[in-house]
Amino acid sequence: MLNRFSRFPLPALMVAGLLTAVSCGTTYELPDTGGAYSDEAARLFAEARQSPPPKTLSRSAAEVRFARVEPRVMRAGRETCLRLKTGVNCNVDIAIDREMDERNAYFTYQNGQPIIRISLPLIQDTGSDDEVAFVLAHEYGHLIGRHVEKQQQQVLAGALIGGALAGIVGDSSDAVGIGMGVGASAGGIVYSQSYELESDTLGTRIAYDAGYDPVEGAKFFARSEAARGSGGGYSIWGTHPPDRRRVATVLATKAQIDGQVGLRNAN
Ligand SMILES: [Zn+2]
Repeated sequence: MLNRFSRFPLPALMVAGLLTAVSCGTTYELPDTGGAYSDEAARLFAEARQSPPPKTLSRSAAEVRFARVEPRVMRAGRETCLRLKTGVNCNVDIAIDREMDERNAYFTYQNGQPIIRISLPLIQDTGSDDEVAFVLAHEYGHLIGRHVEKQQQQVLAGALIGGALAGIVGDSSDAVGIGMGVGASAGGIVYSQSYELESDTLGTRIAYDAGYDPVEGAKFFARSEAARGSGGGYSIWGTHPPDRRRVATVLATKAQIDGQVGLRNAN
């Protein structure tokens, strides 16, 4: 009995401390996507699925499209990143990943350097410069939202909380192992969808600042499954919220831009 009581306060304090130390939500407010925006997103989806997929670009035409779009998105993304005083390194290296043969794009850090990579098959699958601009701007949003850093903190906190809970239940190393697994996956899954929507909000603004039409660009997400290829399990497609909600987020953000409503910090 004494043992149980003496062991209890430490994990409880750890859990409370971790929950207050880890920021779970988005940095910026997500726009309200209800009503008219959802209806309009549904209409855009129906339209996109009725029209045939765009003709696949040749590899050289895809290279030309990327070379045209990339400098403009890089400039607009960097300006947004600096203006918001995010504290991150705003100088992103954006390039084509020539090893990647599925349709995909991603943001990550390589030796501390933020990088955005996009595959040639994805660019070949786009119907306009606006679509490439939107995909790149969305990835830039992951940097500005500090999603990699936040997810790492959450996975770590989830693992520690899971371990601490297992510690309350018992000292068996099996229980700790199971607890850590549960905690880690819960931290990764719960928040990723709001991060994707935050990236869509930031990406809409960056694509617009770069001189592209973000609503045209978001049509990339309204394509039929058949037109997407096999990249289903990876970043740009990965744990994403329903595509219709993403398109509604783009429409709602564009309405904010038109109404000269700036980004607001989330509470
Ligand atoms: Zn994403």
